[in-house]
Amino acid sequence: MWRRLGVVVSSALLVLGLYLVTARDPKALLFLFPFAFLYAFYLLIVSDRALLLSFGVFWLALSLWASVEKRAILFLVLPVLGAFMVGALFLYLKHWDRKIRGADLRKGSAKKETELLRQRYEARMESLTHLEQRVGGLLRLFERARDFNECLSLSELVAVLAKKIAPHLEFTKGTLILFSSLPEDKGRVSQILSFGPKKRIGDGIHQQFADACIRAAQDSEQLVKLEAAGIEEANQFERCETEWPVWVFPLCVEHERIALMVVEGGSENDLASFEILASQLSLQVKKIRLYETVKEVSIIDGLTHVFVRRHFLERFREELKRAVRYRFPLSVLMVDVDDFKSYNDKFGHLVGDRTLREVAQVIRENVRRVDVIGRYGGEEFIIVAPEIEKRKGLELAERVRSSIARRRFSIYDVETRVTLSVGASSFPEDVRGAQVLESSEAESRELIEKADQALYRAKEEGRNRVVSYS
Ligand code: GH3
Ligand code: MG
Ligand code: MG
Repeated sequence: MWRRLGVVVSSALLVLGLYLVTARDPKALLFLFPFAFLYAFYLLIVSDRALLLSFGVFWLALSLWASVEKRAILFLVLPVLGAFMVGALFLYLKHWDRKIRGADLRKGSAKKETELLRQRYEARMESLTHLEQRVGGLLRLFERARDFNECLSLSELVAVLAKKIAPHLEFTKGTLILFSSLPEDKGRVSQILSFGPKKRIGDGIHQQFADACIRAAQDSEQLVKLEAAGIEEANQFERCETEWPVWVFPLCVEHERIALMVVEGGSENDLASFEILASQLSLQVKKIRLYETVKEVSIIDGLTHVFVRRHFLERFREELKRAVRYRFPLSVLMVDVDDFKSYNDKFGHLVGDRTLREVAQVIRENVRRVDVIGRYGGEEFIIVAPEIEKRKGLELAERVRSSIARRRFSIYDVETRVTLSVGASSFPEDVRGAQVLESSEAESRELIEKADQALYRAKEEGRNRVVSYS
C-alpha cells in the first residue's frame, strides 16, 4: 500500500519533471531516455503494470509531441526502442524467475527430504538405543547364566536361578516342571521346583498347577502363551493361585521335552530374556541329568541296585569314622547266597540274575534307610548298620536270613527259593585298639575280614544261618 503510494507520487513528480524539461526543449527527451528506460524497467520489476502502461503512454505522447515540434521522426523511435528493450528485459526476467522458482521448488523438496531423513535417523537412533539396551540385558543374562555351569544338581540350579537371575527379570512366579528321564516313566513329572519372587505352597497345588500347564501346552516344543480369558482350562489355573499371563517354555533337547519352565505375570519386555534363559536351562538340565546318571551308574550296581563295592567301601569308612568320633557302635553283615552255583546250574543264569535282584530287594526291605548295602562279590552282599551294636546286629541279620528263607520267588514261571548265610562283626568289640583308632582304612578292612570269617563258619556249620565273629 505504502510502496504503491510512493511509486504513484514519484511517478507523478517524474512525469511532471519530464514534461517541464521537454516542454522547454524537446531534445532533452533524448538525454532523458536512459532514465525513462531505467524507470520503466523499475516499474516492470516491481510489477506495477498499470503504472508502466500509463508511463509508456505518457512517454509515447511526449515523443509524438516532440517529433511534431521538432519535425524529426527520431523521437518516435524512442518509445519503440524503449518498449523493445523493456520487452527483452521482461522476457529475461521471466526466464530467471522461472529458474529461481524451479530452484526454490527443489530447495523446498530437498528441505522436506532432509526433514524426513532427520526423522528417520532419529527413529533409527531410538530403536538402536533400545536394541543396545536389550542386547546389554541379554549379555548380562548370559554372564549370569554362566553360573549354571557349576551346578551339578537341580537344587543348585534353582538356587542360582532364584538368587542371581530372577531378581533381574520382571515376573511373579517361576516353576520348573521336570519330566522323568526313565524310558518307562516317559512324560511323568519327576520334580517341581519354584524360583520366583512369589511361591506356591503345598505339593498338591504344585502338582495341580503342573498338570494344568502340561495339558495347556500339550506336546508343543515352542513357547505357549496363556491368558486367563483365552483358555478353557482357566478354572483349573485359578484354583492354583495363578498369576496371569502364563508362559510355558518347553525345555527340549534333540526334540525330547525334558522339562517345562513356566513363568507367571511376566513382562513382555523380558520375553526375549526368558527365551534365552529357557534355552540355557534346557542344556543345563540335560547336563545335570547326564551327570546324575553317570554318577548313579558309577556307584549303583545295575543288576541289584545296591552300591557297587568301591562306593560301598567309601561309605563304610565314613560311617566308621563317625562311629569313632561320636562313640556309637556299628555292625557289619556279610551275606552270601547258599549253593548259588548249583542254583544257577539248575535254573540257568537268567533266573539266577533275577533271584539276586529279588534278594537285594528283600534285604532293602529289612534294613533302615541309614543302613548301607553293597554288592561285595557275585552273590555276596554286605550291610553296614550304624548305631547298631552286636546283639541288634545279629537280630537284623536273622531278620534278613529268615525273610529270604520264607520267601518263594516266582521267576520266569519257575517257583524257587534260596537261603542265605550271614557272618557278623561289630565295632568296637571286633576291632583291636578301637579306643585309639583314627583312620578307618585298616579298621574297616578288619571288620570285613572278621565278618567274612564268621560267614565261613556259617557255611561250615551247614549254611542258612547267622554266625557272629566273637
Ligand atoms: P556257597 O556259597 O554256599 O558255598 O556255594 P556257592 O555255590 O554259592 O559258592 P560260590 O561262591 O563258589 O559260587 C558262587 C556262584 O555264584 C558262582 C556263580 O555262578 C554265581 N554267581 C556269581 N555272580 C553271579 C551273577 O551275577 N549272576 C548269576 N546268575 N550267578 C552269579
Ligand atoms: Mg554262595
Ligand atoms: Mg560266594
